[in-house]
Amino acid sequence: MKAQLLTIGDELLIGQTTNTNAAWLGGRLSRLGVRMTRTVTVGDTPDTITQELDRAYEEARLVICTGGLGPTHDDRTRDVVAEYFGAPLRTDADLLARVRQYYEQRSREVPESGRALAQVPEGFEVLENPVGAAVGLWHEAADGRLIAVLPGIPAEMKAIFDASVEPRLEQQPGVGEVRHRTLVTAGIPETLLQERLGDLSEALRDDVSLAYLPSTSGVRLRLSADAEQTRAEARLDEVAAVIRERAGDYIIGTGDLTLEMVLADTLRDRDATIAAAESATGGLIGHRLTGVSGASDYFLGSVVAYANAVKQAVLGVRAETLREHGAVSEAVAIEMADGARAALDATVGISTTGIAGPTGGTPKKPVGTVWVGVADADGAHATHHQFVEDRTLNKELFASAALERARRSLV
Ligand code: ATP
Ligand code: MG
Repeated sequence: MKAQLLTIGDELLIGQTTNTNAAWLGGRLSRLGVRMTRTVTVGDTPDTITQELDRAYEEARLVICTGGLGPTHDDRTRDVVAEYFGAPLRTDADLLARVRQYYEQRSREVPESGRALAQVPEGFEVLENPVGAAVGLWHEAADGRLIAVLPGIPAEMKAIFDASVEPRLEQQPGVGEVRHRTLVTAGIPETLLQERLGDLSEALRDDVSLAYLPSTSGVRLRLSADAEQTRAEARLDEVAAVIRERAGDYIIGTGDLTLEMVLADTLRDRDATIAAAESATGGLIGHRLTGVSGASDYFLGSVVAYANAVKQAVLGVRAETLREHGAVSEAVAIEMADGARAALDATVGISTTGIAGPTGGTPKKPVGTVWVGVADADGAHATHHQFVEDRTLNKELFASAALERARRSLV
């Protein structure tokens, strides 16, 4: 089943609101095996909405619209949809009673515009809204084409999708067409990963496709297979096996697992604990480790040692090492990791010292340089990484590198 999404609202066009509905719906539909072929964003302009609705309805079997269903004058979707389908708007008595109740509960009179919320185009089904006043609308044409019209407010859109749209889609023929398999990698950039995987055309043939999904914590590899064929799962197994063989231990897990979650399991399996010494990451490693529920099982703490004086006083980094090598160096990263491990009595100590930018770079130590230290019972070492120009990205990339080095030292 092919789907197109029409997200409606001036606020989306001018960047006032980030279009999270498109991302969320894209994720949900793809998991259902519905193929999203286009997402269009338009303002609250009836002509443009009609034009794009017409195109989407011609091209896809399922069209989902979000936004512009509310009671205010800029909310035009209901009128546009009714006109497009030549379906007169009728006041639904039950809905009107509920709208009244909704406003009464908030001790407000029903505004004239509120009556719009009870209007349903003829031939459309009402999709209950468990969390707000604007209901969704659903239409199934005789030829099998489907349209869902949902409010823009993300919580309302999601609630209606979960309660009413997904169950209807699951009943449809052709849903569940695509099966996905995701392999999670860490510690290798996209380009090197692609080189390592080499030519996969023989494995992929023409029934499995591969997408590279890079993020600051690693690259995810998503395989998709046409589920119509009975061997879809077996084909995904086959291709995943080839990728595993070539990517080796850069593959750290499957599905929705994150680097932090994999590290958590690795630490737990070994009854190990971890402590961090963070300079360039400024606490981000601690933040990411504590983002996983149950982190107290293995995470002891993180020392944010930004100033050299703190590196010395709290972590025992020697003045001589700082003087000879500078704060961003292999030697300091090692002493920081050792220091965190000793100070917090952890199985593993990790550290970051680098230049996040945009200022502070030198020809020898350009912006994006980081040394990541790892200390355990066998000793301590540090690795050098060179990342990008952007400060926020660099902090994430530095933290990911440290988490990945810690995981590797454990396995
Ligand atoms: P309601 O009936 O609850 O008012 P509505 O259908 O009228 O809903 P809009 O008025 O278009 O929805 O949007 C309400 C709010 O929802 C917007 O201010 C915006 O913050 C948010 N919103 C709308 N569309 C999106 C979207 N695609 N992604 C994320 N947020 C959105
Ligand atoms: Mg709006």
